Parts: sequence; C-alpha cells; structure tokens
Amino acid sequence: MSTLSPNSTEYNIKISDEHEAFRKIVREFAEKELAPKAQKIDKENRMDMDLVRKAAKLGLFGVPFPEEYGGGGGDDLSLVLATEEIARFSAAFSSVVGANYLVSTPIALFGNEEQKRRYLTPIARGEKLAAHAMTEPGAGSDVAGISTTAEKKGGKYVINGKKMFITNGDKADIFLVFARTSAAETEKRHRGVTAFLVEKGTPGLNVGNVIDVIGLRGDQPVEIVLDNLEVPEENIVGEVGRGVNVALTTYDHGRIGVAAQGTGLAQAALEAALKYATQRQTFGNYLLSYQQVQFKIAEMTIAVHTARLLTYWGATLTKTGKDFIKASSIAKIVSTEAAEKNAHAAMMIMGAYGVSVDMQVERILRDSQIIKTYEGTNDIQRLTIMKEVAKEMGITSKPQIV
Ligand SMILES: Cc1cc2nc3c(=O)[nH]c(=O)nc-3n(C[C@H](O)[C@H](O)[C@H](O)COP(=O)(O)OP(=O)(O)OC[C@H]3O[C@@H](n4cnc5c(N)ncnc54)[C@H](O)[C@@H]3O)c2cc1C
Repeated sequence: MSTLSPNSTEYNIKISDEHEAFRKIVREFAEKELAPKAQKIDKENRMDMDLVRKAAKLGLFGVPFPEEYGGGGGDDLSLVLATEEIARFSAAFSSVVGANYLVSTPIALFGNEEQKRRYLTPIARGEKLAAHAMTEPGAGSDVAGISTTAEKKGGKYVINGKKMFITNGDKADIFLVFARTSAAETEKRHRGVTAFLVEKGTPGLNVGNVIDVIGLRGDQPVEIVLDNLEVPEENIVGEVGRGVNVALTTYDHGRIGVAAQGTGLAQAALEAALKYATQRQTFGNYLLSYQQVQFKIAEMTIAVHTARLLTYWGATLTKTGKDFIKASSIAKIVSTEAAEKNAHAAMMIMGAYGVSVDMQVERILRDSQIIKTYEGTNDIQRLTIMKEVAKEMGITSKPQIV
C-alpha cells in the first residue's frame, strides 16, 4: 500500500458470509455470557476462568490457524471481528485471550513442525494458556535493549533475567521468553536476541509480583524471574539471534487485535452515551435533544466507524502478506484513541453517572490507557509509520527519519 500513489484496490475489505456468521456466534456469547460478568471481573480484579474455558470451546484461541494445528481455519479478519465483540463488554477478557496469540502467532510463522504440534496445537485449542515475555525493567519499546541472558552450555541454554508486565504470566502453561544469546556490543544489537519456548514448572521459571495497573482489571500483568532456567536448544523459535525479528513480526499482527479492542471499547462508550442521552431529562428535555450532546454523539459515531474500517482494512491486508505494517499501526493508533475519546465524551454526557464506577464508562477510559500503551505505544506506532513511509520514498539514512 503506497502512501504517495495508492491504488484503489489497496483499500479492498472483503467480508464474507462466514465472517459474519462467526461474528454472530461470538456476539451471542459476549452478550449472553460475558456482559453479565464483565463488571464483576473488573471490580474484583479477578478473571472468570470458567468463561475463558467456554471461549476456548467456541474456538476463540485458534481463529486464524489451520485446523491441523487446532485452529479454526479463519483469518486475521475473523479474529478482529471476534475481538471487537468481546472487548465491547470486557477488554480484560479479550486481553487474556489475545495474549495467547503473542505466542501462537510466532510459532505458526517461525516454528518448526514439532513446535507446531507440541505447542501451537494446545494453545490454539485453548487447552493451554500462553504468555509472551519480552518487556524488562530496563527495556520496553526498545526490544533490542533487553538484558536477560541466555548462555549456551552443551545442548542447552541457561537463562537469567527479569521480565515485567507479562500478561497471563500467572496463568500460562507455555511461555515465549526472549533473551540475549550474544552481547549487544558484539553484533548489531537487534541480531543478538533469541526466542525460547519454556513450559510452566521448569525449574528457574518463577512468577513474581502482580503489577497493579489502572485498566484491564481482572487481567493484571506479573513479573517473571528467570533464575538459571535451563532450556533445550530445540525450543528456540526461529533462528538463534533473530528473536527481535520474531517479536516485531508478531507485533505487526498483534496490534491489529489491539485495534479491534479499541473499536469494541469505542463502540461500548457510544452505546452507553446514546442510551443515557435518550433516557435522561434535564429542564424538561431529553439530553439527546440538545445540539451540544448531538455533536458529541456524532463525533463518537465518526470515531467508531473510522476505527472499525481501519481495523478491518489492516486485518484484510495481512492476507496479502505485505504492506500491512503501516496499516496496522494506523489502525492501532486511531482505534485506541477512539476508545479514549469516546469514553471521555460519554463521561461528559452522563454527568455524575459517567464517573460512577457502576456505570462502566470509567472502566472504558481506564482500559483505553492500557491499550494505547501495550504492543508498542502509539508514539512508537508513529515511528513505525514514518519508517515505512521513508522506505517507500527510498530514504534510508537514519538521521532524517528517527
Ligand atoms: C497491562 C500491560 C500488559 C502488558 N503485557 C505485556 C506482555 O504480555 N508481554 C510483554 O513483553 N510486555 C507487556 N507489556 C509491556 C508493554 O509492551 C510496554 O509497556 C510497552 O512496549 C512500552 O514499554 P515501556 O513501558 O518500557 O515504555 P518505554 O519504552 O520506556 O517508553 C516510555 C515513553 O517513551 C516513549 N518513547 C520511547 N522510545 C521512544 C522513541 N524512540 N521516540 C519517541 N518516543 C519514545 C514511549 O512512547 C513512551 O511514551 C504490558 C504492559 C502493560 C501496561
């Protein structure tokens, strides 16, 4: 998808009857089963694992993967449709599900046959949960800056370090751990990181403190401490030293899922505001009769549709296998900021009830802060967009673009 001279075909979004049928199934689950429990999950800050198991039975953990590996044989578009429906009621629930894709996707893209059978298949079926362990106390956006080490000893690697903010870290059976297999100075820094699959219960893999964050309550991230953790070399995903490539390719796909979370949250805020504005009266008139409220609702509607179209577009482009990096960054920024903007507008429309924790709109505002941050902050997405545009223009010299 070219920035300077795009073709109209680059904006194709093809939604099939199968896509819509799948959406209906997920919507029914979300409305009937998740909606009544969403507020409790947030208030008690505890995930409903029975419901997670039900979501697994619906096929929500393996949507785009081939059936031979436990998947549903769908695509990224099916996955974003499902994610949007789930996030409309609980972004925390969609995050518990979504974080698995940060492990299953790299195995599907970079793993060997044995890894696909042994690890991808149970994750895709929702039989085992997974966690992606990249972020550290000293490195988040700069993934090549991680300092966890993996030292080769015979046919094994010994891993030492600490990971922070790991979603599902307290629930996972399978971890994808990133560590340095060569020092940052010895090669190009992004070439020295490797991705390892580690099973829960392996000595040296320790779950640390829960990190209390303002949003996605019910799905709080944790610390993971790696203390002389021994991993056989056959558990390396992709090539030794190419872990940054594995991670960044995973995030290119994953952030379309975050865009879908933003779309679902933005939709939820719009629905809450509309419902309130058609029921609440002041000075003898419904709130919706005031032009000031109508303009806010119109802006919220624009935000939702823009977010949704860009999310579907990014998910459609992943099928072509090229040019979706910029699209997924654009979708992530627009959708997560739509969620924040709509939550804020809904709060204003709803007055004191908007800031009441019982009305669930303040939850959308809190959740929006997290989705703007994880899988690459929105400013990091802006850098990605600029790098892609520069590439299209043939500009390669760093000082001009970063
Ligand atoms: C709830 C939650 C769940 C998470 N789950 C996971 C998980 O499962 N696995 C995992 O590995 N990580 C996870 N993370 C970590 C998340 O991916 C990182 O927090 C995120 O990538 C940002 O890293 P950081 O917090 O270290 O910020 P930093 O990298 O320190 O950045 C701080 C600020 O500086 C800006 N900045 C940084 N570099 C630049 C630059 N070059 N130009 C302009 N601005 C810049 C950033 O945009 C940001 O605003 C999670 C985080 C949260 C909050």
